[in-house]
Amino acid sequence: MANFEIPVLREVPEIPRVKPEAMAHSAPFVSAAKFQEPLGYPGALVENWEQRAVEKLGELVGKYRSLQVFLDSCVKCGACTDKCHYYLGTSDPKNMPVARQDLLRKVYRRYYTLPGRWFPKLVGAVDMSKEVLDDWYTYYHQCSQCRRCSVFCPYGIDTAEISMAAREIMDSIGKGQKYCNEIIGKVFKIGNNLGLPEAALGDTLQGLEEEVEEDTGVRVRYPLDEKGAEVLLVTPSADFFAEPHVDGLVGYGKVFHAAGISWTVSSYASEAGNFGMFIGSYENMRRISLRIRQAALDLGVKRIVFGECGHAWRVAYSFLNTLAGPFDFLDPRYPVPQHICELTYSLMQEGRLRFDKSKNDHMVLTYHDSCNVARASRMGPEPGGQFKIPRAIIRATCSNFYDMPPDTIHDATFCCGGGGGLLTDDLIELRVKGAQPRMEALKSVIDDHGVTNIAAICAICKSQFTKVLPYYGFGMDMIVSVHQLVSNAIILDGQAQ
Ligand code: SF4
Ligand code: SF4
Repeated sequence: MANFEIPVLREVPEIPRVKPEAMAHSAPFVSAAKFQEPLGYPGALVENWEQRAVEKLGELVGKYRSLQVFLDSCVKCGACTDKCHYYLGTSDPKNMPVARQDLLRKVYRRYYTLPGRWFPKLVGAVDMSKEVLDDWYTYYHQCSQCRRCSVFCPYGIDTAEISMAAREIMDSIGKGQKYCNEIIGKVFKIGNNLGLPEAALGDTLQGLEEEVEEDTGVRVRYPLDEKGAEVLLVTPSADFFAEPHVDGLVGYGKVFHAAGISWTVSSYASEAGNFGMFIGSYENMRRISLRIRQAALDLGVKRIVFGECGHAWRVAYSFLNTLAGPFDFLDPRYPVPQHICELTYSLMQEGRLRFDKSKNDHMVLTYHDSCNVARASRMGPEPGGQFKIPRAIIRATCSNFYDMPPDTIHDATFCCGGGGGLLTDDLIELRVKGAQPRMEALKSVIDDHGVTNIAAICAICKSQFTKVLPYYGFGMDMIVSVHQLVSNAIILDGQAQ
C-alpha cells in the first residue's frame, strides 16, 4: 500500500528518538512558471536569488514586527520540541518547531543582527546558500502552520508565521510550491480551488435539490447567483462534490430552509478556502477576499456566512474585514462574517430548529478540533466558543459523543496532518506520518467507547482523513461533516418520516 513505513499506533504515545534527515527526501513539486506568474512571482529561480532572498527577509521583518520578535526571542528552552505532529510522526529533528524556526533565524541573524554580522559562528548565523534554500523548501513544506507549538512556547513564538514568511520569500525569488500556486491561479481564473465552472456548480446544486426532495418530500432550495438573497454562503468548493463534504452542504441548506432564511452561493466567489495564507502572501489573500466582497455587493446580500472550512474561517475571522472591508453595506445585527456553526447554534438557542437525535443512533461520535479554528479564531461572543459551539451542535443532534484525550483537543488539538498547503499526493508520506498523533487519540476513544465516527468542520481535515484513515486500518468513511449530523437529524416541516 505504501513505499514507506507506516507508524504503529501505540496505547501510550512516546516521544521518538531523533533520526536526523529522516524526511530530507520529502519536498513538494516546485511550481512551474505558468503557476507562478499569475500570482505576481518570477517563473523560475532568479539570477541573484541569494541577495533577493535576504532583501525580502529584511522587508518582511521590517513590515511584520511579530516576525522580528519571534526571530529574536527564542531562548531554546525546548518546550516546543515534542509538540509538532510532524516531529512525533517522522522523528526528523528538523521537524522540531525550534529547529524549523532556526532555518530562517540563522539567516536573519547573519544579515540583520550585529553579533551575526561580526561573529557568525558564535551565534549560529549562516550565509544564504543553496543548502539553506533546499532546507527551507523541504522543511517549510513540512509545517502545516497549525500553531500547536506556539501554545506551548512560553514566549508564544508562532512557527506558522515563520513558515509563512519563508514561503513568501521563496515565492518572491521564483521557488514556489506547485500545489498551492496552481490552486490560487484557479480561483483567480474560475472562482474556486477545484476549477468548477458555473455550469457544473448549477448542475450540482440542482441535483442536491432533487436528492433532498426525494429523501424528505420537502423542496429545499440550493440556489446559485440569486440576487436579493439574505445570505451569501461562501463554502469550500469540496462541499460541491466530495464526500463527506457535500453532506455538510446538504445540512446547511436544510438549516436555512428550516429557519426561513433566503440564501445563495455565488459562482464568482465559489470558494471559502484562501491558499494565499498558506504561502504567506497578504496580497494574494486580499485578491481572493475581494472576490467575496464583490459577490456580496453584486448579489445585494445582507449577511455573509462561511461553510465548514478551517483555514477559510481563520482568514475570514482574522483578516476579511482588514483585507476586503469595510462591510458597512451588510446588516449590522449579524457578525461579519458569520460561521455556519454560529448560525446553526444561534437558531438552536432561539428554538427555531427541531432535531430527532435517533437518526444518528447508528454512530458513536468524537470530534476533531481543526487547528485553524481552534488556535486562530473564535466563534460566538465568548472565549472558547470555537470549542463549545460545534460540540453543542453535535450533542443536540447525536446521542453518543465522546471527546478524545484532553491533551489532544481544544487548543492542544493535533493537526490532521494535511493542513497548510500540504494536502497533495506528492507529500503523502508526510501526511500519513503527521497524522499519527491524531490517529492514536482516535484509537483511544475507539478502544474505550466504541467510537465509530469522527466529525470535523474543515474541508482539508475531511479530505486528509478520508485518505489517511485506511493507512491505519480505519474506514475512510469514519469522517463525517458536523452539518451532515444536522442534516440527518433535522426535522423539516412537512417532511416524510
Ligand atoms: S505550526 Fe504546527 S506544523 Fe508547524 S512547527 Fe508548529 S506544531 Fe509543527
Ligand atoms: S518553546 Fe519557544 S522559546 Fe522554547 S525553544 Fe521552542 S520556540 Fe524557543
